Amino acid sequence: MEALTMQVRPTWAAGVDLRQTMVDCVQVVGDVDSPLALRGAGANVVGWLDQLDGSRSWSAQLAEAEARGIARAQAREVLRQLFEARLLVDAPDADQVSAMAAPAVLGSRDIGERIAGLVAGARYAGVIPKPRDGMGWQVDAERLAEEVAVSPVIVVLDAPWVDAAEFEMLSRFIDQRVNHLVVGAGANTARVGPMTIAGRGPCTRCDELLQQDMDPSWRTLSAQLALDDPPARGAVLSVLAAAEAARQVESAVQGTHSASLDAVLRTGRGGSAWTRRALIRHTKCSCWWASLNGTESG
Ligand SMILES: [Zn+2]
Repeated sequence: MEALTMQVRPTWAAGVDLRQTMVDCVQVVGDVDSPLALRGAGANVVGWLDQLDGSRSWSAQLAEAEARGIARAQAREVLRQLFEARLLVDAPDADQVSAMAAPAVLGSRDIGERIAGLVAGARYAGVIPKPRDGMGWQVDAERLAEEVAVSPVIVVLDAPWVDAAEFEMLSRFIDQRVNHLVVGAGANTARVGPMTIAGRGPCTRCDELLQQDMDPSWRTLSAQLALDDPPARGAVLSVLAAAEAARQVESAVQGTHSASLDAVLRTGRGGSAWTRRALIRHTKCSCWWASLNGTESG
């Protein structure tokens, strides 16, 4: 424990607050089930806790506690308790930048603009050009893909499924190894995922190829869907999809596991929980190559 924690730079988790409720008791209040009460904590302990800001290591903080007249063993125990309760975190973890940070959002406008409003640094880049937009849609789609691919991309589908035009757009991002997240909502369900990082699958293309294997008519149907007007969608499901997408984007930091990574999260209108369907790699999709490279270099 000591060897591991030597590297840690303790800092407070977001939203943590210290409240002195009695002369010798400090309550550490945060987004946990119940506040942690530190009894026998005098003014020196409060002063010491106040300055935990991630700038110094675990051992430097123990030395600081000693300098303030707090027994080393007591200080160590306090740090351990606070870490266990996730009220204290390691500063590098708190500073990590999401692999999906400052994304471009494209696709269906209402959900897209909502996501752009929720995610820091996000911008809404426009709808995905489709066959229904008439001649030249492919050129427009290519131009848009090029424009957005400099940053991570959130692709908002017109429905909870992928039509042929959206599939083409997503294929580009998979081949170019652009980090991206798929999101969509309809009248009855909302989906978030998959999130694909560095082109490593299983990805949306794997999923679509599998679907085509199981249902030979899907290819024709998804082409037809790209011609039609988008179906109606529920307002609540749209907001839900946007919020969950934003949450997944924030969580895409190393060492944590975003549920939508290589998987599709889905929920329905009727108060059900989100379900998670892990994607299966398709042998005809090239994302296995990026996965192989990722394993070798990582
Ligand atoms: Zn794939």
